[in-house]
Parts: sequence; C-alpha cells; structure tokens
Amino acid sequence: MDLESLVRPNIRAMKPYSSARDEFQGDAQVMLDANENSLGSAGPATFNRYPDPQQRAVKAELAQLKNVAGGQIFLGNGSDEAIDLLVRLTCIPGQDSILILPPTYGMYEVAANLNDVAIQRLPLTADFQLSAEIVAGIIASDAKLVFICSPNNPTGNLLHAAAIEEILRGFRGLVVVDEAYADFAAAPSWTTRLAEFPNLVILQTFSKAWGLAGLRLGMAFASPEIIGYLNKIKPPYNVSEATQQHALAALAAGGHFDNLRNDLLVGRQWLAERLPALAIVERVFPSDANFLLVRFRPDATAVYEYLLNRGIVVRNRTTQPGCAGTLRLTVGTPAENGQLLTALREFR
Ligand SMILES: *Cc1c(COP(=O)(O)O)cnc(C)c1O
Repeated sequence: MDLESLVRPNIRAMKPYSSARDEFQGDAQVMLDANENSLGSAGPATFNRYPDPQQRAVKAELAQLKNVAGGQIFLGNGSDEAIDLLVRLTCIPGQDSILILPPTYGMYEVAANLNDVAIQRLPLTADFQLSAEIVAGIIASDAKLVFICSPNNPTGNLLHAAAIEEILRGFRGLVVVDEAYADFAAAPSWTTRLAEFPNLVILQTFSKAWGLAGLRLGMAFASPEIIGYLNKIKPPYNVSEATQQHALAALAAGGHFDNLRNDLLVGRQWLAERLPALAIVERVFPSDANFLLVRFRPDATAVYEYLLNRGIVVRNRTTQPGCAGTLRLTVGTPAENGQLLTALREFR
C-alpha cells in the first residue's frame, strides 16, 4: 500500500487550520488569544476555554490501556466521525469507491452517499462469514477502503482472522476493521497487530461496553501517518471538554467497565440458552457482541410489532441482505431480558 497515493491530492496539499490552542498550549496568566469568555460560563459548570484539540490526556490513558502509542490514536465525535473522515481522506467524490460486506453496519453506506462516493458490495456467506471467494474479490477490488465489521453488526459474529489477515496482505487500499463490539469478543483486538500492517485502521467506541453512547466518543487506531492525516482534516475541536473530562473519569474507573461488560456477557448467555426453546424461534445466531440476531418463524415482523405493543423495542433486520426473518435483540438488564423472554413466550 502506498499511503500518499491513497490520500486525496487536495488533502495532501492543504494546510490544516491552526487553532489558538494549537499555537499556544499550556496555562498563561492572561489568555486573550482565542476570543473565549474570560469571565466564565453560563450554566452550572465551567467550560469557557476551548478543549485540547489533540486530546492528549485521554490519549495518554488510552495508550496505556490499549498498549499502543499516543500517535497511533485518533479520537472523534463517535466512531461515526472516523468513518466519515476515512471516506473523505481517500475517496474523490464522483470518482472513487468504498467496499462493504453486507449485511453490515449502515453508516459506511451513509458516509459514502454523503460524500458522493460509490459503493461496491461483496455479500458475506449465508453464515455471515468471509470465504476464499470473497477474500479474492476484495483483493481484486480497486476500492480505496474496505470496511470489515468484526464482530459484525447486525449478525454478532467475529469474521475469520486468517481471512482478514489475507485481506490486509493483499488489498491495495485501507482495511478498516470496525471493532465496536470487540470488548464482548473472546478474541484479541487487531490493535495487537498494528505494527505489522501499515494499511490497517481499527475502530472502537465508548458507546457499547463502556456504556457512554450519549457522550459521543470514538477511537481509531492506525499508523502515525494515517492518524496524522485524520488529525489534519478533523474539525479542530471535535471532542468537547466535557467529553474529555468524562472519558478520563471513566478510564480511571476501569473496574466499573469490567463489571458492565461481564454482566452483559452473563445476560447474553442467559438469553442465548433460553431463546432456542421457543416455538417461534428458528435460530439464534452465535454472538461475540452485546446483542443476538434471532430468526423467527413464521413472521418476524409480526413478532416485532407485537413486542412494540408490549412496550419493548428491538431492531427489525428482516430487510437486510441475508437476514430475512431476523430481529436484533440487544442484551439489557436482567429484568429487561426477563421481560423480553416472557413477552416472546406469550406470543400467539
Ligand atoms: C454502535 C456502532 C458504532 C459506534 O458508533 P459511535 O459513533 O461510536 O457511537 C460503530 N460501528 C458499529 C458497527 C456499531 O455497531
């Protein structure tokens, strides 16, 4: 892979915005450089200063936790921001394309459409895996980047690591492994392989296992060169001071994270053991995530509507490629899981 030739020429050539906080870091007696309000903030908390545009404190903690260098981390307003920036970094509108492997996360397609970037599709196998044929198709593609979601949303399964490795070795564009659900999987993160693959980008998020979806904080891990480009094109203050402070507090309370994750894994197991006994359940797909994809018979949408009437909202995936008859059930609290199971038992 040649990164310089993958990056759009206008982005290579442009000068990034240089913010007041880029040009002066640290605390001075008198800070009159950024047109902030030195008097204070409206509201109960103080946020009158612009945040660190490079989020150094959060990255220092994350570097320890993930065993990567600070320069290998990009932070965004959700990982959705990283998805959009990766498309914009590499794809010339009206000319280039991305490659996706349906059924998969919908934001890749939205980011491509928003940026007038074409979408190539290579559907996963019937059991939602990569095959030798699919890997060959990916390697032959001229797409600028391929999005590989593992564990995959909405199917829940990890994709075969050996196949992903072949793609990393053979594909000419960026290989984006979206690990939004990696915290729930019994497999090492691809962050452990970063040094081997200059074309690897890993996405993770605070939205799932960390329980901080409302905060909007996503991570990308890649070579310092790729991270440098993402930083060059991001909005200067893309992660707010409130978000940075809260992320630091969450990272300092690591035990809470472990408890949340472990409890969700127990809940997943609880549901996965009981759902197959229901007559309306045809198949519970294996999950490495915090949700279960379940095929219902004879009519999944009728089950979906019935659950809605009982005040339980799940995700109807029946129209997704390869997902006919399926609903995606997020693992909730033990009480919520119990209500869901009881409601499904009472479906007539
Ligand atoms: C939930 C999810 C995300 C997270 O997006 P955020 O913008 O970080 O909330 C990313 N990728 C996939 C596949 C997801 O399911």
